[in-house]
Amino acid sequence: MRIVMKFGGSSLATAAHIRRAAQLVAGQRASGDQVAVVVSAQGDTTDELIEKAREISSEPDSREKDVLLACGEQMSMALMAMQLQELGCPALSLSGWQAGVHTGPHHGDARILKVDPKRVEAALAEGKVAVVAGFQGLDDSGDITTIGRGGSDTTAVALAAAIGADTCRIYTDVKGVYSADPRVVDRAQIHREISYDEMLEMAALGAQVLHSRAVELAREKRVKVEVRSTFFPEDLGTALSLESGVRRPVRGVACDESVAMVTVLGLDTGPETCRLFTLLADSGVNIDVIIRSPGTAKSRGVVSFSVGGDDGDKVSAVLKSSRRELGYAGFVAQPGMAKVSVVGAGMSDGCGVAATMLRALQEGGIEPQYITTGEIRISVIVPREQAPLAVRLIHKAFFGD
Ligand code: ASP
Ligand code: MG
Repeated sequence: MRIVMKFGGSSLATAAHIRRAAQLVAGQRASGDQVAVVVSAQGDTTDELIEKAREISSEPDSREKDVLLACGEQMSMALMAMQLQELGCPALSLSGWQAGVHTGPHHGDARILKVDPKRVEAALAEGKVAVVAGFQGLDDSGDITTIGRGGSDTTAVALAAAIGADTCRIYTDVKGVYSADPRVVDRAQIHREISYDEMLEMAALGAQVLHSRAVELAREKRVKVEVRSTFFPEDLGTALSLESGVRRPVRGVACDESVAMVTVLGLDTGPETCRLFTLLADSGVNIDVIIRSPGTAKSRGVVSFSVGGDDGDKVSAVLKSSRRELGYAGFVAQPGMAKVSVVGAGMSDGCGVAATMLRALQEGGIEPQYITTGEIRISVIVPREQAPLAVRLIHKAFFGD
């Protein structure tokens, strides 16, 4: 069998952690498998590197920032390869580019376009473990890129697809995918199986266990993904599957704690609204919920929308610079909001999920400001400080005590 084993930062935090992860890898190889490993940066290294850049510049050049951030994973790959060798397991470390990870040009959030795994294949053929740095690649002009926070999962899936691995196993600090964040909800239940669609919604809506692009890619390339704990490796964890056998209307409660709402007052006509969203798109702002009340003879139009917390400043800048052109009356930004969502493939052909969710919130005295729905999810936006309570109440309503 061929397997990709990916270890996240918390599984590699110290030398002792690396040793433990390396023992798992060596054991897997000893059982006769060909093993490629993908590593993240140790512990909080990436945050520390970002901080270092900030000490120099409040807006560091994006190319240079990627050069810096890519160092974290390179430390891990070398340490992991050394540790494997120390255990008598032949290993070769490879940076993203040595492993053939080719990306688009968007620094800080590049997409993996192609993986040309020649050197990984050669290492495997020689009986070595290939240890690949996650989160990094090279673009067309030969510059180092990074692929977005949490992106090592995506490197692992892309590599698994490229080498035709039987399984891509993501080792992390929780035992698998839960019905809610177990740090917030005591009674969160672990799923043995979850569909790609459900996992994709959960990841996109803030469940941090997997990078959403990794799930997307796994679904597209039909890569078998498992999530397991590095600390309890004998636990089977969660397997991603095309269709989850379980048809519950709600499979999980996810929370994104970094949301800002912006309300633009007096934005009267369709063309102006259209223009605003074009300007926001041009400056790279990712819009989520949109609510619009068009202007009437008696009242002026209002449009509200949510963005990721990090994009708040960009939105303010766009609004300020386009005030004259758009002719709006004013705007209100509410940072510090959170989006709480329920996800489940079974909700597409059932009813009552929104009612149950709103009742649960109502009982806790939480009035969501905005509500949106998708095919297999319903989301509400609440002030961030109410989010943990909202998650607990909603989880209790769907999963019991
Ligand atoms: N080290 C990177 C991050 O912290 C990538 C990853 O961990 O997947 O975002
Ligand atoms: Mg992660």
